[in-house]
Amino acid sequence: MRRVIVTHYHTDHKGQIETLREAGADLEVWVHADDADDVERFSVEREERLDEGNALFSDHGAPAALLARQAERIRRDIARDEPLAKATRVDRRLRNGDRIPFKAFELEVLHAPGHTAGHLVLAEEASGTLLTGDHLMGNAVPFTESFYLADHPDPIDPLGRRPRFRGLPAYLASLRRLRARTHRTILPAHGGILDRPARVIDDALLFYQVRIQRVERAVARIASERGDASAWEVWQLLFPALDPDTQMRTRMVMVIGALDVLEDEGRVRPLRRRDGTIAFRPAPA
Ligand SMILES: [Zn+2]
Repeated sequence: MRRVIVTHYHTDHKGQIETLREAGADLEVWVHADDADDVERFSVEREERLDEGNALFSDHGAPAALLARQAERIRRDIARDEPLAKATRVDRRLRNGDRIPFKAFELEVLHAPGHTAGHLVLAEEASGTLLTGDHLMGNAVPFTESFYLADHPDPIDPLGRRPRFRGLPAYLASLRRLRARTHRTILPAHGGILDRPARVIDDALLFYQVRIQRVERAVARIASERGDASAWEVWQLLFPALDPDTQMRTRMVMVIGALDVLEDEGRVRPLRRRDGTIAFRPAPA
């Protein structure tokens, strides 16, 4: 029996586990509890949460016709393409702090939500090594996810918004927790080996700080003209050259994530327009 520890459910990390199993390999698959259902359910990455994503974008002001066009195109692509990686059974659901012994070393599981809800980082204390998956990469800063967790309104939210996994605030908190520890080397899933973990973490924090500032300024500018700003209006102001049909979704998640951070920090206030759209106003200084 061989053990496969999956950092998160995305196709390029879940890989060909199911294909290997079908060919007779005796594999045990370990995944963080919050990503386990996704590993067991999704056979094509792009299929994930299409309708949920549309509900989120629609609540934040994206036009229904645009979302319908995108959904039709994405469904067509899914139906046409072979799955890159099939769904597969999870044998153990990992938790933060779990320790995984090997013959010569031990790995500690660190839950690092953000890029996905159940992303995990593996730490090897003796050598100061971190296996970071997509949480920290050698060649990019990851996007973070944002998706509704339930159909009913959150009882503690004054605007009655649905409870949601808020990837960007979670990602920044995960980075700060990791920053407080001492490590020597990062082995990421993409890009080369990284020597100065603290610098890499600071770079990722700065990357998002700049974007959060841009979103804050865009809200102020739109609100000065029309009273408040939806995430969709912020998207349009920040990315005028992009084609919304093909380039809206990941950046819209970024804008919504930045608004989550600004709301948490008391820099913007959410409201609901008469038509139900969620919008934001700069908080009075
Ligand atoms: Zn990924």
